[in-house]
This record gives sequence, C-alpha cells and structure tokens, in this order.
Amino acid sequence: MTGPEWPEVYRKLGVAPIINAQSWVTALGGSIMRPEVLRAMDEAAGAYVDMMQLNRAAGEVVARSCGAEQGLVTAGCSAAQVLMVAACMTGQSESNVEQLPDATGMKDEVVIFKGQRNRYDKAFVTAGATLVEYGTAESATPELLDEAINENTACVAFVIAASINRGVGLEETVRVAHARGVPVIVDAAAEVPPRANLTKFHKIGADMVAFSGGKGIGGPQSAGLLAGKANLMEAAVMNSLNLHAPVAGIGRPMKVSKENIVGLVTAIELFTDSDEGIEWDGWQSKANYVAERLGGIDGVNVVIEDDPNERQGPQPVLRFDDAYEGPPIAEIKTRLESDDPAIFVGGAEARGEISIVMVNVRDGEEIIIADRLIEILRSE
Ligand SMILES: *Cc1c(COP(=O)(O)O)cnc(C)c1O
Repeated sequence: MTGPEWPEVYRKLGVAPIINAQSWVTALGGSIMRPEVLRAMDEAAGAYVDMMQLNRAAGEVVARSCGAEQGLVTAGCSAAQVLMVAACMTGQSESNVEQLPDATGMKDEVVIFKGQRNRYDKAFVTAGATLVEYGTAESATPELLDEAINENTACVAFVIAASINRGVGLEETVRVAHARGVPVIVDAAAEVPPRANLTKFHKIGADMVAFSGGKGIGGPQSAGLLAGKANLMEAAVMNSLNLHAPVAGIGRPMKVSKENIVGLVTAIELFTDSDEGIEWDGWQSKANYVAERLGGIDGVNVVIEDDPNERQGPQPVLRFDDAYEGPPIAEIKTRLESDDPAIFVGGAEARGEISIVMVNVRDGEEIIIADRLIEILRSE
C-alpha cells in the first residue's frame, strides 16, 4: 500500500494527493465525486441551455429532497448564507435587490446566539447586514432572544454544526422568532448525513436551510443547497439570478455553472437513494481496524466515538495519559502531515485528542494511517 494514486493533472502542478482523515473540510478538498456525478457534469458541459430554466428545474429537485416549498442550487453553503440574509432583507422588491449591499430603508439586523458565532458567519453580513448577538458564549434564554429582536431584525440565524452550542435549540428559536414575525435561517452545512437532516430542520419550522453540496452529499466542492418557504426563496432567486435585470444582484459573484448544477442534482439523487447503513458500516469497520491496531501502546487510550452532535461518523479518538512517552499531539500531526503521502487527522489539541475521521478515508488508506501512527506513537 503506497497511498492514493497521483492524478497526472496534479502531478504536472507539483501538487501531491493526501490522505484525508479530517472529514469533509474545504481545506482538504471537500469530498470525492462519484463517477456518475462526473459523467453527468461531462454531459452537461456539451450543450448550451437557458440557465434560468436549468436553475428552476434543479431547484425543484433540491426542494423535493429537502421537503421544502422551493429550492435552489447555490455556490456552496456560504453562498446560500449570503442569499438567505439578502432574501430576508429585500423581500421581492426589485429596487431593494438593486440597492444591496446598501441596506438603507431595509431591515438589516441578523440576530444570532453569541455561542454560535463561528468562522463562517461573515457570510451573514456580506449582503450589508450586521450581526446582533444575544446570550453569552455559553448560554442563552428565549427571553434574551426575544429582547434582541426589534423592528430592524431581518432574520434570526441558527447554526447547526458538530461542537457548536445549540443554545435554546432550533424549536424554541423558531417559536420565539415566529411569534415576532421574523424568519429563521439555518446554516447546517455539514449536517448531512444523516439523510433525515435534509428535511428535519424544515419540519421544525425553519424558513430557509442551507447545506454544503461538496461535503457529505458528494457533489461539486463549490456547490450547495438552499431550500425553504416560497416567498423567501423567490427573493433569494432574485438576488442571485436576476439574469436580465439592468443591475446584477449581490449573488452575482457566486454564480453556479451548468456543470455544477447538474453535478449537484445528480449527487443529491445518488445520496438520497444510497443506503445510510452500508455507508456507516464502511466507516465503522475502518474505525474498528485502526482502533484495534492502536490498542496496547502505553499511555494511548483509543475509544471509538460516534455522537452525531460531536462527530462525523464513527471514529477512533486517541487520548493520552501519564504513561505515554511518545511525541506531543502537535508533533504527531506535523509528522503525519509531512509524511509521503501526507496524512491529515482531526481532533483539537486543546482538547488533548486526535481523531481519525473515516468519512473521506478511501479503502486501504486505514492501513497506511495505522502503520504510520504506530510508528510515530512508539517513537521518542
Ligand atoms: C463548511 C461550512 C460552511 C461553508 O460551506 P461551503 O459549502 O464550503 O460554502 C458554512 N458553515 C459551516 C458550519 C460549515 O461547516
């Protein structure tokens, strides 16, 4: 086993393939598209189409998969975040769409629980809004949420992600916001699988929900899904696809190619049709393999964890006690990453752990990971 195959296009650029045991992270390439997706994109590349018609048709697939009134393929979850806020600000007013990011005369505050601030939330202000926090980094109450809402509130943003605090929860957020006539938008970028999450947040009452297309769904890395209530979705369409208006909207820099639209639609269909249990078992058996191989190293405790609120799939988590004599976590990671092939693993140093996330580990790579880790953990 020598590692992943080195595609000629990357070799020519001097960019070597890596082993991704860190999950569907953008920095490591998102996910690998299935051959069926690539074939669909190849086919799509061979014809001109009316992009509005294609977007509408693809939007129907997204809406159906999400159990929502209307859908849209976007250029990723971040792009969907921009469009959700823009839609809440402009409504279906053409002059408002034309005016953004100047928000004069529009509701321009996005209310967010302080504990949900994260590295992706700049997308919530890109359209010209400002974030208004409520609660502390640790906790929130429905009363604090209610107090943060005023006549300038465009929407309440809710973020669902592994290890991001849920605050008062989505149900309660929807209840409080709707009582004040304010929509709730959700960033759930990496929350599928489980497939049930495609529809779950809509069922709870969220007005718009965004997912990445290039993470667990296995579509193009720069594609995403946005779905929700028809009036707001139509406003999102206006902000991104006013293709014949004199002034292109705020979504213009986030256009989606015909190939990516078709690729994402194909990926969604494959994803919803494929068996979650089989997918999970594949991750589980790789996790079991690595955990078994790493058993018996002094001071290294290996536990397979799969709490869906914390972890993407079953994964061996390594923690270290006083009997451990190998290199510290930062050095373990550096050595893995400077290896050939480079291996990227998950787990926060601050939490004193390393996790081997299996969702992007290709068959056989678990052997390389275990071999290399044993060598490093047993060294000085
Ligand atoms: C990955 C991620 C995003 C960005 O999604 P893209 O599809 O890469 O644009 C936004 N929010 C969260 C929580 C994410 O994990």
